[in-house]
Amino acid sequence: MKLRVDEIVVNDKRVFLRVDFNVPLKDGVIQDNTRIVKALDTIKYLISKGAKLVIASHLGRPKGEVKPELSLKPVAEELSRLLDKEVIFPGEVIGEKVESLKKELKPGNIMLLENVRFNPGETKNDENFSKELAKDIDIYVNDAFGASHRAHSSVVGIASFVKTAAMGFLIAKEIEYLSMATENPQKPYIAILGGAKVKSKIPVIENLLDNVDTLLIGGGMSYTFLKALGYEIGKSLFDKEHFEKAKELIEKARERGVKMLFPQDHVCAKEIKEDAEVKVFEKDIENDYIGVDIGEKTINSYKEEISKAKLVVWNGPMGVFEIDKFSRGTTEIAKAVAEGDLISIIGGGDSVSAVKKAGVSDKITHISTGGGASLEFLSGKTLPGIECLSDKEE
Ligand code: AMP
Repeated sequence: MKLRVDEIVVNDKRVFLRVDFNVPLKDGVIQDNTRIVKALDTIKYLISKGAKLVIASHLGRPKGEVKPELSLKPVAEELSRLLDKEVIFPGEVIGEKVESLKKELKPGNIMLLENVRFNPGETKNDENFSKELAKDIDIYVNDAFGASHRAHSSVVGIASFVKTAAMGFLIAKEIEYLSMATENPQKPYIAILGGAKVKSKIPVIENLLDNVDTLLIGGGMSYTFLKALGYEIGKSLFDKEHFEKAKELIEKARERGVKMLFPQDHVCAKEIKEDAEVKVFEKDIENDYIGVDIGEKTINSYKEEISKAKLVVWNGPMGVFEIDKFSRGTTEIAKAVAEGDLISIIGGGDSVSAVKKAGVSDKITHISTGGGASLEFLSGKTLPGIECLSDKEE
């Protein structure tokens, strides 16, 4: 078992805390502070125990360059407001200024480093950069679940250059809930997968076939499977590269007795836009139409399945839900999942927005803070950002 932050002594120690402060920003203004709020438990705990805290995060994709519009300065201000406490912001990630400020930190002080991805070493897990980050640091705490599937310096590399590395409360909670789906899951266990990309869902489906009773497939990814089943899909999304794999997965599901369901009717349009004319097709889709949402029959049959479940894992919308006209399938599934007497685990930014849009997020058992990371965890992979943590304190 990996160490959790409350299992180690942090008093008077310099602690490097990696969080996920990758908040949506518009003209330097934070649009949604959820990610900062979610990190507060671990931050408050560490300062209450007398840690000298150095916090790090990435923001967006500056690709190793300093991009002022991706500065963490507004985040430092928001964190300071939320904690009602000074947050030192050196405006740099490493270097002399950071080093001298690090040394001056007193127990309970907080410093937030500038965007770690301003340094090209970060995403390369560069050893020298990792060493720089670890300079004068005693303990590394990872609480950035959403970044834990990435072997980057501030997530993984740093762990090799500190005495002890532990997880924060947010990651501990993610593991606790996501493990409900990977270790002895309650049955019937249903996984609902949607979204556009077949590629990212293939390993998940493969792994889920060992555990789930039923797979409900929707969204753009379903058309590659529907074509494999011999249906006409018109101009709907089609992933040629993963077509054979899709066929294989359908076969595997059959062999293992897993019920794999696909949309039987489709809300279609000639173009993906708000004022597009909508037509519903059952089974085959006409040549110049694109499938943009699941139809009423599919909604009802999926709801029926969900009503029998004890555990539901959901990732990816059932249609182009960003456009109101095409969002009904996703919203109805969100409601069914939320209202069911079941454990519900939702991951992935889009499914999370969908449950928020449907106004049912408070009825979901666990909303994961990491889309890619939760998918990898559910696929049975060990996440490098968790794997690198210590089993015991040094
Ligand atoms: P993913 O990142 O693979 O989970 O895909 C999420 C995206 O899939 C969302 O932006 C949806 O708009 C999109 N999507 C869902 N259903 C469809 C569809 N039928 N056709 C095209 N895009 C879709």
